[in-house]
Amino acid sequence: MHLKRLEIHGFKSFADRINLVFKPGITAIVGPNGSGKSNIADSLRWVMGETNLRNIRGTKTDDVIFSGSEERKPLGMAEVTLVLDNTDQTLPLDYTEVAVTRRVYRSGESEFLINRVPVRLRDIQELFFDTGLGKEAYSVISQGKIDAILSVRPEDRRSVFEEAAGIMRYKVKKNLTLKKLGETENNILRIEDLLQELR
Ligand code: ATP
Repeated sequence: MHLKRLEIHGFKSFADRINLVFKPGITAIVGPNGSGKSNIADSLRWVMGETNLRNIRGTKTDDVIFSGSEERKPLGMAEVTLVLDNTDQTLPLDYTEVAVTRRVYRSGESEFLINRVPVRLRDIQELFFDTGLGKEAYSVISQGKIDAILSVRPEDRRSVFEEAAGIMRYKVKKNLTLKKLGETENNILRIEDLLQELR
């Protein structure tokens, strides 16, 4: 699997639609200070389902939307599409090319799409579990992240290794199942109470 293309429109400093094509051999993005290199990394993290705004250097949801400049008015929407070559079927989808899109509007409304089909945020996050990409992954390391990994609590640091070891998917599913189990147990208790009242 490799990153083929990144289409950015209205995300942070990118008011115009840009299409970055990552041909094999491209290993670095260079540019003057403040030209938007880190914004590209942020867009990548965001489209793969990042929900912690601090990790994309923001504080509010609409911080990712182009906020205007001297020459241009602010935009109402940010959109990023990540196109991956999936000929090796690393992603569990029957497509050789997978396009993941995330959009957010100033109203706060969000949209997520996989190959143009609307999905939930969770579907995007699950798609990338254990692939080395995605929210908890180690493929996009921002400035300061290495220090952060070294200084966090051991149990938090463990999540990086769990993703690399390929068990993150199961851990998240286990937690969801435990939550449902808890809810079901509560429902059973409530039904038993009702039954007692009816007797
Ligand atoms: P450096 O080399 O200094 O780290 P960089 O190339 O990584 O710089 P970025 O941090 O990606 O640059 O870009 C910073 C620029 O993006 C700033 O000029 C900032 O004003 C602009 N920017 C960030 N968010 C928005 C937004 N929502 N709307 C418009 N511009 C934005």
